[in-house]
Amino acid sequence: MNTQIIDGKSIASEIKEELRTRVENLKSQGITPGLAVILVGENPASKVYVSNKKKACEYIGMKSFSYELPAETSEKEVLDLVETLNEDTHVHGILVQLPLPKHMDEQKVILKIAPNKDVDGFHPQNVGALSIGLNGLVSCTPAGVIELLKRSNIEMQGKHCVVVGRSNIVGKPVSLLLLREHATVTICHSRTRDLESVLKQADIVVAAVGIPKFVKGSMLKSNVVVIDVGINRDENGKLCGDVDFESCTNIASHITPVPGGVGPMTIAMLMNNCVLAAATQGGTSN
Ligand code: NDP
Repeated sequence: MNTQIIDGKSIASEIKEELRTRVENLKSQGITPGLAVILVGENPASKVYVSNKKKACEYIGMKSFSYELPAETSEKEVLDLVETLNEDTHVHGILVQLPLPKHMDEQKVILKIAPNKDVDGFHPQNVGALSIGLNGLVSCTPAGVIELLKRSNIEMQGKHCVVVGRSNIVGKPVSLLLLREHATVTICHSRTRDLESVLKQADIVVAAVGIPKFVKGSMLKSNVVVIDVGINRDENGKLCGDVDFESCTNIASHITPVPGGVGPMTIAMLMNNCVLAAATQGGTSN
């Protein structure tokens, strides 16, 4: 079988192009979407993520407001800053880069973000909206998975989707989104018995385990669609996913690579959430 590689980089570029047009339209109505990013401390990976987010904002014509605070900043100072940004009409999206330093309660900070500005989709109000099918901001990586499937013309309705992982940021929300698309969803985790026999039944596998090359081709049935959310380093320090890519080629009908699959979609969906948030809030002049 000729396995088709799903090109997340090019799908993400396509989305960013569409967003540029939407931002232009919003600007012509006097609304310039703005994203505020709060980074506390010196985590090098977080710094790279924040800088990529700023670049993406610039590219699509949005404003970005950056707050880079020292590691010793108090929780109260961060909460006060979030409150100020909640009130600021130039800011339509607020993102607090996680992880926060250990002396801060992440949940408390997330709860402080106004739900209509919570572009990461982590606020319990947005999580709850997703679970009961109301409108809300959906977290970016799970939304990116669904968008990849849709734009690759992969039907979800009626398909058996097996999600490996049940985290709050990937496994659970992606499962709810698949359910919303009328898939039959099985969620697996570290206590699942006989994972392989569950995986063998899958039409679509979403791997979000955090273990390099965990899902092997031998565990899958032929023609399966494989979406690899994982970002890990292999024994040689090379970037790899939660799926053993090589062993899945010629078994899967479609597969996402790492890097270049789900990764680029996360930032595109973040930009999408900011534009959505701005369009919903409206009313801010340039
Ligand atoms: P977590 O560590 O929070 O969750 C991992 C999940 O995998 C848990 O639910 C855990 O089960 C399950 N698991 C662990 N071991 C096994 C096993 N042997 N068999 C079956 N299930 C198992 O990870 P995240 O969800 O945060 O991230 C998953 C991956 O996705 C990581 O590689 C991460 O780097 C990547 N990621 C990528 C993003 C992107 O932008 N592309 C964004 C976010 C994450 P249990 O609940 O029982 O412990």
